[in-house]
Amino acid sequence: MMSGIHAGTATPSGPGLRLTRIIATIGPASSDIGTIEGMIRAGMDIARLNLSHGSLAEHQEILSRIRLVSKELGRQVAVMIDIPGPKLRVRSLPVPDGSLLPQEKVILSADPHDGEIGIGPASYIPTVCEGDAILLADGAVLLKVTCVGETIEAEVVSGGSIRQGAGVVIPGRRPDIPYANDELVQNLSFAVDLNPDFIALSFVGSAADIAVVRSFLSEKQVQIPLVAKIETKYAVDLFDEILEAADGIMVARGDLGVELPIAYVPHVQKEIIRSCNKAGKPVITATEMLESMVEHGRPTRAEVTDVANAIADGTDATMLSAETSIGKDPARAVAMMAEIACETERHLPYRQILDERRLWHETGPSGIISYSACYLANELESKAIVAFTRSGITAERVSRCRPGSPILAITPDEQIARRLLIRWGVFPCIHAPIHTADELFFISLEMAREKELIASGDRLIIIAGNFAGVQGRTNMIKVQNVP
Ligand code: PGA
Ligand code: MN
Repeated sequence: MMSGIHAGTATPSGPGLRLTRIIATIGPASSDIGTIEGMIRAGMDIARLNLSHGSLAEHQEILSRIRLVSKELGRQVAVMIDIPGPKLRVRSLPVPDGSLLPQEKVILSADPHDGEIGIGPASYIPTVCEGDAILLADGAVLLKVTCVGETIEAEVVSGGSIRQGAGVVIPGRRPDIPYANDELVQNLSFAVDLNPDFIALSFVGSAADIAVVRSFLSEKQVQIPLVAKIETKYAVDLFDEILEAADGIMVARGDLGVELPIAYVPHVQKEIIRSCNKAGKPVITATEMLESMVEHGRPTRAEVTDVANAIADGTDATMLSAETSIGKDPARAVAMMAEIACETERHLPYRQILDERRLWHETGPSGIISYSACYLANELESKAIVAFTRSGITAERVSRCRPGSPILAITPDEQIARRLLIRWGVFPCIHAPIHTADELFFISLEMAREKELIASGDRLIIIAGNFAGVQGRTNMIKVQNVP
């Protein structure tokens, strides 16, 4: 019935082997050690800590819990620190319940007097124009600007209730402040102290914003992959330069769905994912993926389909936000995400995907070998591709071609291993440096057996670069029969 080629090779060892990565946001519902353990067991590959909430000490404590449990379980888990960017927020409310009625006249001000709504940072206000829409409560409350001076006067179009600290979105407007303001610098120093595997940057507006963060990190002599969150119209407009400057991308649909007309989200998501796949950079699809699981034990059909479609679009990772940070059962949400991913992966048209990507692969031996490894794996129904990689690049190149079989990335470096956890299908294994091809073939079999990927009579595809230590120079490919 299914047209998926070699559907069986996608999940060679039955349940549990999943190629799509799962990122889960840690919050009050998931910061205790028991829940962290449950989430890791259920399949969390990357834990996201959001610096908009909590103190340094709290984040440090959570991070050490994650590292501890991951070590005890023998399961690699990476940590992503998410840094808040310049976002306009409600700072104070004129009435305690924050309710706004249709047609009500309101005043928004950076320096609120009685009866006014306090908003900040102040530098947004001069950028606002008469006729602009102002969205609050994730778009549920809509105001129309009637006059702008020292303050913003507006009329309520759709009423509702707003909270202190909630985001205020004025589509198309951005604050007139540099991305690298004091708050960002403070958050970045904070993040560096936590030594995360990834840093996610909220409200990135341009390649220059990323460059500023990178130079801050290099001053501190650290190199941490930067994930740019695409969550504004101006980031979508400058997406190409942001993609080039970033190490990974997040389709941050929460804010994006308010900054853009909500109906734009699906096609923007598809375009972003495709561009990332082409560029060989990892991409995360985020927000409201299993939103009903914040409250309920099961997601809606629409949510399940959304997760499956993001995977079919080519996302490397799917992300849980409120489902795990404040949800009723974080581990259950992760388990559900894993189940949907596994089932979806069994039916992806891998050969068709590979055919299309043939046109994208890099020229030169490394690119061609990575592509060929996937081709061979599909044709020979290989149970896994083993990539020996010091820098991670060889495994990343293979992942980009989306083979239907897992990629065992053998690397000597623990941090490189964790950074590979954002890549579709890559299973990092840490091993001391390998010096000869024979040693590599032996270890590949050993590792694939340990992961229960192979049985006697199966085949492995093994690729490697120069054993002398030149990074990213893949020049060897081997079809290994499993004795
Ligand atoms: P947030 O980012 O959860 O930090 O807001 C993701 C999004 O906006 O979708
Ligand atoms: Mn956001």
